[in-house]
Amino acid sequence: NILFLRGFMILLLSCITIQLNFCISNIPSSLKALPLEGYLSFDEVGLSHAARDFGNRYHSQPMALLHPKSVSDIAVIIKHIWNLGPSSQLTVAARGHGHSLQGQAQAHGGVVINMKTLNIPEMQIYAGEFPYVDVSGGELWINILHETLRYGLAPRSWTDYLHLTVGGTLSNAGVSGQAFRHGPQISNVQQLEIVTGTGEVVNCSEEHNGELFHSVLGGLGQFGIITRARILLEQAPTKVKWIRVLYADFTAFIRDQEQLIYMENAFDYIEGFVIINRTGLVNNWRSSFNPQDPVQASKFKSDGRTLFCLELAKYFKLEGTQAVNQEVEKHLSHLNYIPSTLFVTEVTYVDFLDRVHISEVKLRSKGLWDVPHPWLNLFIPKSKIHKFAEVVFGNIVTETSNGPVLIYPVKKSKWDNRTSVVMPEGDIFYLVAFLASAVPSSSGPDGLEHILNQNKRILEYCERAHLGVKQYLPHYNTQEEWQAHFGPQWEVFLQRKSVYDPLAILAPGQRIFQKAI
Ligand code: FAD
Repeated sequence: NILFLRGFMILLLSCITIQLNFCISNIPSSLKALPLEGYLSFDEVGLSHAARDFGNRYHSQPMALLHPKSVSDIAVIIKHIWNLGPSSQLTVAARGHGHSLQGQAQAHGGVVINMKTLNIPEMQIYAGEFPYVDVSGGELWINILHETLRYGLAPRSWTDYLHLTVGGTLSNAGVSGQAFRHGPQISNVQQLEIVTGTGEVVNCSEEHNGELFHSVLGGLGQFGIITRARILLEQAPTKVKWIRVLYADFTAFIRDQEQLIYMENAFDYIEGFVIINRTGLVNNWRSSFNPQDPVQASKFKSDGRTLFCLELAKYFKLEGTQAVNQEVEKHLSHLNYIPSTLFVTEVTYVDFLDRVHISEVKLRSKGLWDVPHPWLNLFIPKSKIHKFAEVVFGNIVTETSNGPVLIYPVKKSKWDNRTSVVMPEGDIFYLVAFLASAVPSSSGPDGLEHILNQNKRILEYCERAHLGVKQYLPHYNTQEEWQAHFGPQWEVFLQRKSVYDPLAILAPGQRIFQKAI
């Protein structure tokens, strides 16, 4: 009897295994049978492209790549996977421009959606009293800039680099030097169209389906795919006065930064960066900047010291040149930078906003763009920024490393705490971004191992000293770490996930949830 029972169990298990294998091997054909306006591709070249990102350290290959031509294509795929139920293991990741750092837009063995092929709706601009533009979630910000400028308009809030998609930056926050005045990009969106994790297409705004609207903004792709966004616009300037001044004293530097972010009309853009005894092409990759007097600029290669550079911009139209000069002079006269370190130049608005791309072109030509990018982005409460700077710039990041270190304050009042983004305590917090490029096969300070180790030391120090720091573009490996990251917001995040993506189909590359099996 026992022998018979054992034989029966083995037979049963074999049948289940055959059945499962059959289902799994049939998945591509079941996907292929779906009615799509765009198409699915399974070719090796496309799949290995979808397995890469700007970070260039994590590589997970999907099973298929969807090139959607309509929102319905995205809904059909997700609905199909939803209907397969929890046993299918298939997941879906929207891929904007793939400029994530740790595989966040990848889906191991799943379906990656190439959002850039979704060019519906065509960009539509409303140029009335409160102007806006409707765009596809896969649209690049650089294209939005060029299109809106044809109407003398432009978005109000940017990232430093514009070759990123709307869906990609809205899933994080989208922060740059305009955020002190307008808030991040997620504070400048009026409406969204979303395909949820159950394949429903839902329109939402603050007033209508507000919970979904706020969930998706800064939601790390966990609650739905952004297929359309309405972005607020403002009158665009034509020119920009671009200013850099240097400080040796950190206290004076941040005092001036904080004073300026409260004078909302003094400047249109406020950032800053740290100069840690460094020069060179890669170090200056964001600094496509021609000061009026390059001889003067070259005096400040920091000579072993740490200097702090305040970076400002004032927008204007050509006819206002004289007035803007006087105004800038007046505001600068109240600042406490080293007097001989005033660098001023004038550029077009497009050149200013697209400045990082100029560096990209240079780096690409030298084969230095597609290297690993072990970046670390932190939000640091104002109350802890001195302590952070003292230890991190004093003891941890003291050697030349390859890439800029940005530091600038933003006001929490310009951020909406109903969104999914996680912020530290206090009215003001600083974005501190260590944007290193690793030199392949280097074992020195510009090598991957050294930079990763440095990042680890920074994070460990923040933890040990209880600085209340939050990661921006966060990356963790365990759910416990995610829970700690979200803190009191974790319960809300879980609840939202259970409503909008209950099977955890979406954005598996964030490593927050595992698809239930
Ligand atoms: P992807 O990497 O393709 O996707 C990012 C995440 O969003 C993934 O989880 C993906 O699944 C999800 N996603 C993508 N599209 C959608 C969609 N339509 N709907 C739902 N989820 C989606 N950030 C700033 O805030 N400020 C900066 O100044 C800044 N500068 C940068 C400069 C460079 C050179 C680089 C490489 C990045 C920079 N970033 C900056 C970070 C950038 O905003 C994020 O990495 C962003 O996610 C990249 O956009 P992407 O279109 O490449 O997104």
